[in-house]
Order: sequence, then structure tokens, then C-alpha cells
Amino acid sequence: MPTLSRRAFASALPLGLVGGSLFGGGMIEGASALAATPATAKAPVSVTPLAQIRIGRFTVTALTDGYADMPYDYFPGRTAAEVEQAAVAQFTARAGGVRFLFNQYLVEDGERRILIDAGAAGSIGQTGQLPQALAALGLQPDQIDAVIVTHMHQDHMGGLILGGKNNYPKAELYIDRRDVAHWTDPAKRSGAPDYLQTSFKMADEVVRLYPRLQAIDGEREIVPGVSIVDLTGHTPGHIGVRVQDGGQSLIMVSDMIFPVVHPGATDVFFLFEQDPAAAKAMRDRFFPRAASEGALIAATHMPFPGLGRVVADHGQMRWQVADWALQN
Ligand SMILES: [Zn+2]
Repeated sequence: MPTLSRRAFASALPLGLVGGSLFGGGMIEGASALAATPATAKAPVSVTPLAQIRIGRFTVTALTDGYADMPYDYFPGRTAAEVEQAAVAQFTARAGGVRFLFNQYLVEDGERRILIDAGAAGSIGQTGQLPQALAALGLQPDQIDAVIVTHMHQDHMGGLILGGKNNYPKAELYIDRRDVAHWTDPAKRSGAPDYLQTSFKMADEVVRLYPRLQAIDGEREIVPGVSIVDLTGHTPGHIGVRVQDGGQSLIMVSDMIFPVVHPGATDVFFLFEQDPAAAKAMRDRFFPRAASEGALIAATHMPFPGLGRVVADHGQMRWQVADWALQN
């Protein structure tokens, strides 16, 4: 093996890395000179609303609906201070809490277009961008053949309704029967806390506006290569979607994984979680299995495009962002 002299190695590195700090004086000055330009400091940066990968014959497009910052005290199992400390350690702390993205996924096989989740549609935080993201692909909502809603929380089904109307008029709608039953039950609604009332109200509207709603029972194939995975816990009928073809697969796990706290621990939850014991059991089962299989995962609230893997790193589970771009 050829040896590289220290001098030759150093000459191959950018100047700022040699014999000193990564943030040499020159770099800092350059950065502040850029930031000081008033026009660029205030102008919004452009955001890419979509990211595509191929899974066999399928094209899967991550589409953003926007974001919301979740207060640090929304994570039962840890104190607000502990969650904030973890966010600071991961360089993701925001003034309002932990930043949650809202990622939806469009699955296309050249014939059918299946949308997984419909976004919060402005019902929470800075959301409501899914229609523009679809338009960036050249698509209107009436070109969507099916929508799979992973569970009936407002941030996953809000976009089904627009101005009191069915926003996907040609789509079959698939939701797990346990969620449909739970979220349309008046007794459950009256006993639920305030922060869940919007989801109950939306669930009633969705059932009324989508007569083609198909309540699904357990794991099944929706079309060849696209199937439902039971991930009950977060809600009674919380499901994932597996896309599989040609030896490749992707599993969209919805709210199985929340940023900052998962997959490092399973005894920490999100406020909206229906049944913490069941949610913990689901994550205890799923995280080690995903790590051993190296499963490619799509997760709603992870940083856009939400694609990554659970990896076991010296016995500690962590999220590894998938190197998704330019894979051909
Ligand atoms: Zn969610």
C-alpha cells in the first residue's frame, strides 16, 4: 500500500484544515461578509418541495407540506429540559421546540398514483404546501388515484379536505378500520383532550366527504408491490406502507419515529400518542428489526425528505440519513 507523506496529505486538504481550526479567521470573515448584505439576509431561501427515488419499477416522491415546532414539553417520558438538551446536542434546537417536518410520499408505477398521507394543510404550524409540491410535479389533486392515510391525526389527513370539500375527488381512500372506528366514536371524542378535538372533527368530515373510503383490516396489498404494515400503537389503527419491487423496498413508517428522541430510546413519546405502552412495544419490535435488515425508511416528521435508516452504533440506535440523491 503506498504511503502518503504528511506533507502530501496536507497539501490535498483545504487550507483552513491544516494545522488549525476548521473555522479559520478567513472563513468567519467571509461568512459574516455574506450575511451582512441586507438583501440576501432577508430574502427567503428557495425550498425544494420534492425528492425522488426509485424502488424497482416505482418512483417514490417525497413531498413537503411544511413544518411546525413542537414544544419541548410535548414528549412524555422526558422532561422538557432533557428534550431541549438532546435537541441542542443534535444542533436541531429551535426557539419553539423540536422542528417537525410534514413529509408525504407519492408512489407511481406509470399507471397509478398513490399518495401516502395528505398533510396538515395549515391546521398546524407552517403547513399547507402539499398542493404546491404536487403542482411542481405537474400534478393536480384529481390526478391522484388513491390516498392511504396512515392514521387519523390532523397532520396526516388535513389535506383531504379543502374549503369544506373533498380535495381528491377521484381517489380511493384507505384507512385502517380501527382508526376509522376510534376517531368517529362520539364517546371517545367527548373524553378526549382539547388537542385531539381537531382530529375528531376532521375524521367525521373525511368519512362524510369520501364515500369511497375503504376501511382496511390488517396487513394487505393495495396494489401489487404496495402493501399495508400494521404499526399499531401511536393510534389504534396506525399503519405503515411497504413499497417493494425488484429486490428493493422502502417502508413508510409515519409516526413510528420522531425527531431528536427516536430511535435512541423507546420510552419517550409524543403528546398525541394514544397508547404509550403499545407505542413503546411497537418501537421495541421495529427498531432492532429495521436495524438488522438495514431497511430503507420514510418517516413523516424527520428532516425532509425523511429518508433514512435505523442503525445500531455501538449498541445505541440512531437515525442515519439515507444518501438518496444521484443513486443511478
Ligand atoms: Zn404525525
